[in-house]
Amino acid sequence: MYKLILADADDTLFDFSATEHFAVERTFTGMDAGIPQEELIAEYHRINKILWKEVEIGTMDTKRIRSERFRRLFVKLNLRHSAIEYGERYIGYLSEGTTLLDGAEELCRMWSARCPLVIVTNGIADVQRTRIEHSTIRNFISGIIISEEVGKSKPDARMFEAALKCVNHTDKQSVLMVGDSLTSDILGGINFGIDTCWYNPKSLPNTLNAKPTYQVKTLSELLGII
Ligand SMILES: [Mg+2]
Repeated sequence: MYKLILADADDTLFDFSATEHFAVERTFTGMDAGIPQEELIAEYHRINKILWKEVEIGTMDTKRIRSERFRRLFVKLNLRHSAIEYGERYIGYLSEGTTLLDGAEELCRMWSARCPLVIVTNGIADVQRTRIEHSTIRNFISGIIISEEVGKSKPDARMFEAALKCVNHTDKQSVLMVGDSLTSDILGGINFGIDTCWYNPKSLPNTLNAKPTYQVKTLSELLGII
């Protein structure tokens, strides 16, 4: 039925929580912040979450986010550390994160045997490329669309247009978008006019006014759809 699969990367195929946890810990280790590291990390996450929401609505871009999250953190905590230096240190650790979610490798192997698989991700270009290209799924991927390179982020239709274009696919009816985010992956796919599958492992409530075509709790359920 489907002739092209578009898949989100983080928290759909890649274990972003593990990657982020490792990178944040390493970045702040040894930093003289004058407050407990747990507090520092909690504040970082609060600020980072707001920034990625700003990326989604288009008021922030991923080039600026690299240092902006540390700039806001250091301003908030009255610290004089270099936001640019910490931003780049964090990016270095983040790029090392290639841990996949359980079942993701098998899923990509099966999908890619049937049709092209394109990754569509909101993220920082060099981080996402390094992670994907060093991962065990790299050979199953036909294309990688990254918001920083497109200049727009999901749910913007231009991300989806770029994905179809990179594999010369024009028939929207045979495309499925799979992702864990309602506001970027699912809303973006629905607005673009393609079928969507919401990967919802925590059984969160649907807060959209629209319904995804499918909803699954585990990645292995996805194999049955295609
Ligand atoms: Mg995601």
